[in-house]
Amino acid sequence: MPLVEVNKLKIYYEGRTAPVKAGRQRREFVHAVDGVSDRIAVMYLGKIVELAGTKELLAHLCHPYTKALFSAIPMLTQNDHSGRIILEGEIPSALRPPSGCRFHTRCAYRMAKCSEAEPTLREIGSGHLVSCYLY
Ligand code: SF4
Repeated sequence: MPLVEVNKLKIYYEGRTAPVKAGRQRREFVHAVDGVSDRIAVMYLGKIVELAGTKELLAHLCHPYTKALFSAIPMLTQNDHSGRIILEGEIPSALRPPSGCRFHTRCAYRMAKCSEAEPTLREIGSGHLVSCYLY
């Protein structure tokens, strides 16, 4: 199976499951992702920030953007706000992305070097790659 862009799958998922309970939605989403792809690549402003086998990634969300993305799933009911990570700031232009880590303008964990040099996508184990100075 080809890699699935999580944002697109999430949009597809939102369209077909809006009325169900939050916990059930998360489980269904995980099953949906697992069923259509062996690997997941999470992209931010046109760059892969995290790449791993589906089960590995779902068990160990690492990149701050990946965590925020997946935390949004229970919000589909608009009743369960627990655990939701709200990103600060505006979405930067993909035509003029921020220097360094493209996510640094919205990241709660940013350090000085995050805006200076772009982190490389490097393996942290089990074929799990992350582009972040936290790893
Ligand atoms: S490299 Fe820095 S700004 Fe980018 S995701 Fe990691 S901690 Fe956040």
